[in-house]
Amino acid sequence: MTRFAPSPNVAELRESATIAVSTRARQLRAAGHAVIDLGAGEPDFPTPAFVIDAAHRALDAGATRYTEVAGIAALREVIAARASAVHGRTVGAEQVVVSSGTKQALFNACFALFSTGDEVLVPTPAWTSYYEMIALARATPVVVRGARERQLKVTADDLRRAATARTRGVMLNSPCNPTGAVYSAGELEAIVALAAERDWWVVSDEIYRAISYDGEAPSLLSVAPDLERLVVVDGVAKSLAMPGWRIGWSVATPALSRTMTALQSHTTSNSATLSQHAVLAALSDTGAVEAATRAMVNEYRCRRDAALALLRDARMDVLDPHGAFYLFVRIGESTRDDPEPGTTFARRLLDDASVAVVPGAAFHAPEWIRIAYANRMEQVLEGVRRIIAARIS
Ligand code: GLU
Repeated sequence: MTRFAPSPNVAELRESATIAVSTRARQLRAAGHAVIDLGAGEPDFPTPAFVIDAAHRALDAGATRYTEVAGIAALREVIAARASAVHGRTVGAEQVVVSSGTKQALFNACFALFSTGDEVLVPTPAWTSYYEMIALARATPVVVRGARERQLKVTADDLRRAATARTRGVMLNSPCNPTGAVYSAGELEAIVALAAERDWWVVSDEIYRAISYDGEAPSLLSVAPDLERLVVVDGVAKSLAMPGWRIGWSVATPALSRTMTALQSHTTSNSATLSQHAVLAALSDTGAVEAATRAMVNEYRCRRDAALALLRDARMDVLDPHGAFYLFVRIGESTRDDPEPGTTFARRLLDDASVAVVPGAAFHAPEWIRIAYANRMEQVLEGVRRIIAARIS
């Protein structure tokens, strides 16, 4: 039998660590273990009923065929109108590409923009898939660490110091997965000004923007003067509790959008037609969307406050999150004996206390763990109590 040898395209590829944790939690549950899943970054809320109703209606009306690769015109127009309102200038529907989740929109951007020899700055800790997507484009992800006193956010100066003649872009994510940190408009402006000066691309992942606890989290669309070197991606997985519908999108220049559409035409074609119709109905009803998101954010806020209070009472080293639905907790110092204390702890926690969390190593922060509070309040609190007990024992 010939042994499978992966091609150089994927020889170094690692499986998504965030997905691996939720898969493991699901398997353990299926095997009868009562696992508390604080791993998955997946809203526990059902998709709002008015969106489900719209999907039923679309199916009855025969929404089962292909659509344009970049998405149905009406949906792209609604997304463009929302982007225009934030940007303060007109964004055309030809600047929007609807994809199979925000993940695909990010992949399209990385693959279309970066290549061999390019370096892309990744403010770290950051979502596990940025590093792999950049590497799949044969570029090099460059880890840029933010200071503890700034909630691990990076500054324009941090990026300047990490840059070389090969730097081509920077990946931004605010509110940030895994830290929950939110960049202020001023912090983003400084980064955008540096990127403009150096001719870098900025890819801004704004999937958590609707989940923000202290007023609106600024969008790069409102901060950047134009879209010339900017790609903003967003979606409905988090804000509207629609992770399984697989709809995300990018907003960029018409030329880059055409290239990303061509790329998508050879990989997945259009995202699922039924899902596009459901999202169109959702985004067309601004009042209903805002009410649904507000209710979820209020509940996330209660969970965040309650979980934070427990962790602080136990004197655990936890960041102060202002958005998303994650708590980032430092477990201990990396040593030669244990270079990844977060991973060791997460493994022990799952085996001994049946609580799933994501090791910080997934985000290039091996001393930390990520707790997702996208789970019912009592599960979150019980999970956090077991984390505290495991930490002390
Ligand atoms: N983005 C979420 C997380 O970080 C969902 C899983 C994934 O796609 O990575 O958990």
